[in-house]
Amino acid sequence: MDRVEFLDRIGGIKIWKKGNRRAPHKPLLLLLALGRVYGDKDRLGSYGGDIEDRLRRLLSRFGPPRKGHHPEEPFTRLPSDGLWEIPGYEQIPKSVAGRPRLVALRESKGGFPEGLYDLLRSDQTLAIEAAQEILDGHFPRSLHADIRDAVGIPEYLHRRSEPVKQVVREPRDPRFRHRVLRAYERRCAVCDFDVRIEDQLLGLEAAHIMWHAAGGPDTVKNGLAMCSFHHKALDVGALGLECVDEEIRVLISSEVSGRSAGIRQLLDYRGAQLRIPRNRRDEPDCGFVEWHRREVFREPALDAIS
Ligand SMILES: [Zn+2]
Repeated sequence: MDRVEFLDRIGGIKIWKKGNRRAPHKPLLLLLALGRVYGDKDRLGSYGGDIEDRLRRLLSRFGPPRKGHHPEEPFTRLPSDGLWEIPGYEQIPKSVAGRPRLVALRESKGGFPEGLYDLLRSDQTLAIEAAQEILDGHFPRSLHADIRDAVGIPEYLHRRSEPVKQVVREPRDPRFRHRVLRAYERRCAVCDFDVRIEDQLLGLEAAHIMWHAAGGPDTVKNGLAMCSFHHKALDVGALGLECVDEEIRVLISSEVSGRSAGIRQLLDYRGAQLRIPRNRRDEPDCGFVEWHRREVFREPALDAIS
């Protein structure tokens, strides 16, 4: 496998899909493994010692809100994509349903196949480039730095020289930002933030409600003008939205905490009405709002201020 083929496969990994639910399990395992290459660790990592707990933490931080996470699933399914191997997998005892017994799995090791590992070791920008490919494909930009830090991969600074063939991703519409900010009169939809330096907006962004990386369109009905803080809070699921009758209300996760006055930037808006565009045609679509609540927002929400 050469670098172009590797990047193609990274872009084409088979993701379990049910409707538009997020399934970042394989992407997060690959990122963890790329971090191991970059951090000079052995080719094979122990499932029980090196991978299980770290992957579970990554899933709970950056995966969809679910009751429990199963790091063993990507670990045992990734070999079918030709990017992973678990030596001796056939000998691991299985349950009636054909799943490997966890106690035995914890004794096993997994990692990139040898040829691929050597390629990654001989060309370390490849791990960084592949990580960027995965991040672009599965997570909003506002989370990229946090995920890179969590797995120990530096930022990719150079554009790749060779095009990746199989990655078919909707390009971003360059007019999205402009249209969203205009619809919201260049103020945060939550807190009205509108700070400028001379003519330039400072820290006002166009957020996607349904992530672009999850197939959310670049339309005003899937956008919100938000200050940087509220945009980040939306993308990590600290802030959510709910369509109630004709309004959209702000939800704040009960998982947020903080001792500085900054926490008021969240708590003060629980249950508040989101400011929506005057033109009803530009109002957020409740289908996208529901997707965000189901796939990103960290339930339960705090009670509204009465
Ligand atoms: Zn704001």
